[in-house]
Amino acid sequence: MKAVDSAFPHLDFFSLTLREKFRGLSTREGVVFQGPAGWGEFSPFSNYTPHQDSLWLRAALESAFVPFKYPKDASVGVNAIIGDNEDPYVASIRALEQFGCNTVKIKVGLDIGNDVERVDAVVQAFREAGKLADLQIRLDANGRWSVARARETLSELDSAPIEYIEQPCQSVQEIRELHRKIDVPIALDESIRIDGQYEISDFADLAIIKVSPLGGINAIEELITKLDVPIRISGSLESGVGLSASLLAAHTFAPDEVAGLGTGMLLATDLTNEPAVPHRGRISVKRFEPSSEEMIKGALPLDRKELWEQRIARAWALIPVAVLASFGVLEQSVQG
Ligand SMILES: [Mg+2]
Repeated sequence: MKAVDSAFPHLDFFSLTLREKFRGLSTREGVVFQGPAGWGEFSPFSNYTPHQDSLWLRAALESAFVPFKYPKDASVGVNAIIGDNEDPYVASIRALEQFGCNTVKIKVGLDIGNDVERVDAVVQAFREAGKLADLQIRLDANGRWSVARARETLSELDSAPIEYIEQPCQSVQEIRELHRKIDVPIALDESIRIDGQYEISDFADLAIIKVSPLGGINAIEELITKLDVPIRISGSLESGVGLSASLLAAHTFAPDEVAGLGTGMLLATDLTNEPAVPHRGRISVKRFEPSSEEMIKGALPLDRKELWEQRIARAWALIPVAVLASFGVLEQSVQG
């Protein structure tokens, strides 16, 4: 690749198919590459800024170059995710029967029917399966609710086992107001990632931490020490390859909590032989590696490569040299 330093490893471009449309996407595109420590994945969403892309690339380089020690025989509990376009009742049965997940995350505030009905369908599925006592529901509004709508919806869901509501409203001001008026715990996601809020305990109860968009394991470790609330590690719809660092982070920083890493359930195809999806509600903590067969099947159409090359070159230029040096990426260049 011309625009990027010769230090950069060979790039494999991929396009995976989603089971159903999610966040308006029907495929998940990105790049994987192998460094001396293993594989890294660069797959930021298309609406990300160059700065956000650079954090993601930093996480991918860290994964490929920094020899993190993965535990032997460890696993983390994960929540199931109900896709935006899935029937919540059918998806809940699948979460239970196929993946053994008792914690279910469901997006709310979308234009796809009634939030209360969708959550009720999850409760009904678990009740009929005799598993209602085990059910924990995580709601994620991605900032789409107003304070009034949040209060109204949550009061209607009074009897549902809601563990927390993630980013109910967009602004910290609204969340602060809502926090005073409801009993349901509030988790912040976008406010941490995008607005850089760390001292949040007077208006939030939890922080959602995502390894790839926040710049990798070392970066989130620093961030976690600044936060004054407990955390949950969550994923960003990566392939199994990209999910590996998040699994290690969940095992390291929140080992007894249910992580938001069941995103593999939304993929119809993956880069790995063995998909990184839950078994009995848990996923093994290990480096999931790409298989050549799946990489060929999931290759990115040629006309999309240039765009990804440009994104990676632009992101690379924004990573501080000191960070690249700390990962050992630059020494690799000199030797290579
Ligand atoms: Mg979220």
